[in-house]
Amino acid sequence: MDTTVFEQHESSIRGYCRNFPTVFASASNARQVSEDGTSYIDFFAGAGVLNFGHNNPRMKDALIEFLRNDGVAHSLDTYTTTKRDFIARFHEVVLAPRGMDHRLQFMGPTGSNAVEAALKLARQATGRREVVAFSHGFHGMTLGALAATGNHAFRQWAGVPLNDVVRLPFETAPGGDTAVADYGASLRDPSSGHTAPAAFIVEAIQAEGGVNVASSEWLQQVQALAREVGALFIIDDIQAGIGRTGSYFSFDGMGLDPDIICLAKGLGGFGTPIAMNLNKPEVDEHWSPGAHTGTFRGQGLSFVAGTVALDYAADRDFLDQVEAKGRVMRDRLEQIAADQPGWEVRGKGMMQAIDTGDGALNKQIQAEAFQRGLLFGPCGSGGRVNKLIPPLTIGEDDLDQGLDLFEQAVHAAREGS
Ligand code: PMP
Repeated sequence: MDTTVFEQHESSIRGYCRNFPTVFASASNARQVSEDGTSYIDFFAGAGVLNFGHNNPRMKDALIEFLRNDGVAHSLDTYTTTKRDFIARFHEVVLAPRGMDHRLQFMGPTGSNAVEAALKLARQATGRREVVAFSHGFHGMTLGALAATGNHAFRQWAGVPLNDVVRLPFETAPGGDTAVADYGASLRDPSSGHTAPAAFIVEAIQAEGGVNVASSEWLQQVQALAREVGALFIIDDIQAGIGRTGSYFSFDGMGLDPDIICLAKGLGGFGTPIAMNLNKPEVDEHWSPGAHTGTFRGQGLSFVAGTVALDYAADRDFLDQVEAKGRVMRDRLEQIAADQPGWEVRGKGMMQAIDTGDGALNKQIQAEAFQRGLLFGPCGSGGRVNKLIPPLTIGEDDLDQGLDLFEQAVHAAREGS
């Protein structure tokens, strides 16, 4: 395993490779194989991108066909056949069954860019500046999205003030049970000094923030306050969406009707980049052509594989399997946590996590897991949460084996600590 070239020439900003110190050479579904032939079970899935596995065969076939036929790989926002297919299928599978008439907005292909666009549009649509974001929220690295992100480890790099965000505690954070009601009361009080925000942006499940799961009652309360004060209700479903929780959106069935929904990561299916916002038509009207432009808005490969990904979203059996596998994960994590005082298991569908409250221990667990052939990443304050997000397509054998490896790693780290 030769990593010299990276160490000599690549920026010191390299992060994940320090936790996974090997060189990966190939990947298939929930497995990655390194150059030295070690096979790793992937409970990380590209930070929630590879919901349909590495090199998904159905997508691979569609992509090869597309390339062979000289399909348009890069298109800015010009019309292409593949983009039409994607939009039509998205409407058919996701929007129409939910009675949604949101417009699809493509932007530069990262989650951060989707959040930037959502915040800009909300400010434009309302003529207001402030946006409400929640503690432990993660919305991206560009300045607008970073301002909405809670984590100091990222915020400290901004170099300029991160302004125009009102921070409220998330439901599960201290004070989170009353914060939205209190904030609402001060918005109703003309002498409180508060003025109404442009938007509330929230993750229904905070992924990077520690797999904090909001209740439908709380999310409805946020939405109701947004409506009451004429602000937009934005859900960032970039990591928790696209089938991860057993339904297409992580907030399906919660009685919510967001004005803007931000999607990216798993949307393109194969791991090629794409980001997209769903904007209610009356909100979308506030854009003028090219207002939030971007060179890489027309990602042909992502439209092709993303159209295949929508077949999974249309497949009730597949989504039932996601729920079933999620229960398997949940049960195992509950067992692992049972004899560890203070540990908490959280999650929904195939995003499941153990909060050990101890970032240093989790680093050990992660290292022990890596040595045994399992990849996953920490999240939450100080890395206190072990988040497991395997591809939704993972086979039962790999899922069980990965959970065994996780359990062994936990025991090894506990014994070592
Ligand atoms: N929002 C959420 C909820 C995310 O999890 C992420 C990425 N971890 C982002 C936004 C930013 O996406 P990207 O890294 O593609 O800019």
